[in-house]
Amino acid sequence: MKELEYLLVDEEATVEIGHKLAKVLQIMVDENGPKGLVVYLNGDLGAGKTTLTRGFVRAMGHKGNVKSPTYTLVEPYELPPWRVFHFDLYRLSEPEELEYMGIRDYFNQDCCCFIEWPEKGAGLLAKQDLTINMAYQGEQRVITFIAESAFAEQLLLSLHA
Ligand code: ADP
Ligand code: MG
Repeated sequence: MKELEYLLVDEEATVEIGHKLAKVLQIMVDENGPKGLVVYLNGDLGAGKTTLTRGFVRAMGHKGNVKSPTYTLVEPYELPPWRVFHFDLYRLSEPEELEYMGIRDYFNQDCCCFIEWPEKGAGLLAKQDLTINMAYQGEQRVITFIAESAFAEQLLLSLHA
């Protein structure tokens, strides 16, 4: 499945879709072996990118807060056997800053990377498995998943089921 779109009626629905994405990923990895995931998150400020990531990170087992890494650029979550990295590159002044952060170490088989404002890191990020576009629809949101790899196509198929 190449594309999948949902209306998210409230914040809880956004958290829930992040949660479901994590569960589907865990099942696929249990069945097929380790596979990291790179997700590019697009959408205006307040569209729900961090909210969705919160749902994902919590479903992976994180108990505490999930705050936006607006100033730190990245927030790591050690959730064995996973490492989840939540990037917010909105304030990145030049892509080279990512080199100093050791960005290349983040794209491994045990890593899930959720990247807000990926266009700011153009040229230095791993190619995405999944693009997620989030947009306002009145008070609600529309989310579009676009599979960019065969693995992501499988993921969307399971997400849809
Ligand atoms: P972003 O990271 O894209 O800037 P945030 O996730 O930080 O956005 O903030 C999204 C805001 O919109 C939060 O105030 C959240 O409560 C709200 N929100 C999230 N999802 C929905 C939804 N489906 N419908 C209405 N409001 C939502
Ligand atoms: Mg955000």
